[in-house]
Amino acid sequence: MDDHNYTLGEIKMAKYRIEIDRDTCIGCGVAPAICPEIYMLDPNDGKNRITDKYLIKLDEHKAIGEIPEELYECAKAGADSCPVSAIRIIKIE
Ligand code: SF4
Repeated sequence: MDDHNYTLGEIKMAKYRIEIDRDTCIGCGVAPAICPEIYMLDPNDGKNRITDKYLIKLDEHKAIGEIPEELYECAKAGADSCPVSAIRIIKIE
């Protein structure tokens, strides 16, 4: 009998919250082009939002999402390229 006690549940990955200020977004399409896994232009108003997979909240003013650590670089590349700095990324875990 193997009595090793592995506690896999203790390995926690970081998570990040993404906030898009949709009032500031000018719908240039740069963030969705750079990171289509997270960002997309909403067909209703042409402004950036979070893809369904990671979306938590969406209204005309704000889009909020949550992404796992492995998508951080993608999220950040999009945020850094935004000409109006409309994307914020906050570490939550
Ligand atoms: S890069 Fe900025 S302005 Fe352009 S679509 Fe994304 S959030 Fe909007």
